[in-house]
Amino acid sequence: MIVIKSDHEIKIMREAGKVTAQVLEKLGNALKPGITTLELDKIAEEEIIRQNMFPAFKGYNGFPASICVSINEQVVHGIPSERMIREGDIVSIDVGVRYQGYHGDAARTFSVGAVTDEAKKLIQVTEKSFFEGLKYCKKEFRLSDISNAIQNYVESEGFSIVKDFVGHGIGRDMHEDPQIPNYGKPGRGPRLAEGMVFAIEPMVNAGTDQVTVLLDNWTVVTDDAKLSAHYENTVLITDGEPEILTII
Ligand code: MG
Repeated sequence: MIVIKSDHEIKIMREAGKVTAQVLEKLGNALKPGITTLELDKIAEEEIIRQNMFPAFKGYNGFPASICVSINEQVVHGIPSERMIREGDIVSIDVGVRYQGYHGDAARTFSVGAVTDEAKKLIQVTEKSFFEGLKYCKKEFRLSDISNAIQNYVESEGFSIVKDFVGHGIGRDMHEDPQIPNYGKPGRGPRLAEGMVFAIEPMVNAGTDQVTVLLDNWTVVTDDAKLSAHYENTVLITDGEPEILTII
């Protein structure tokens, strides 16, 4: 069941979303060669707590940290560690925040110093694919119109869409109905309605769409070890244009 949020709930989710975006901005500024992913985690956790919110990923299904940091061929769910960021890396950071019982969820992929042209294009296409999907986040469309728009754009640019992980409804729970695949035929699934809130999160690979979860039970990597990028925002369906809750 897709939960329709009240004005009061939306107000809280706007606050959670704002802080989620602020934390991502802060992490983007802190990202430089030599910093460890655990140091990034600490920056995020401190900032979230300073804003009187909670790092929603911490302890979620046993996840041991406040953010996910996924480098290069890692797709999503990388666990912060002593690993150092290096010049030329692309780094996907996913942040989840809980505030007064509601959630914000967003991710960005950053490049560190000079990266390859392919890496640059991958990051740009991934971000733009979100905005292609966003065009269909309106009342007159159905859920899979979003999915289809993302897939069409990504594949037209020569990249592949990860199928094993999908976007999701968000609210009281970090992951609510519906699941939002980043692929599929248009015109399927529920009609969108004012007050629905979705985390839309294309995961895009430079090579194969096939991925594997590592033995740490979290980190997802591409099977061909080629690069992967991730871009996510929490989006409110309104009477008119969609509202992105995790952009400042
Ligand atoms: Mg998400």
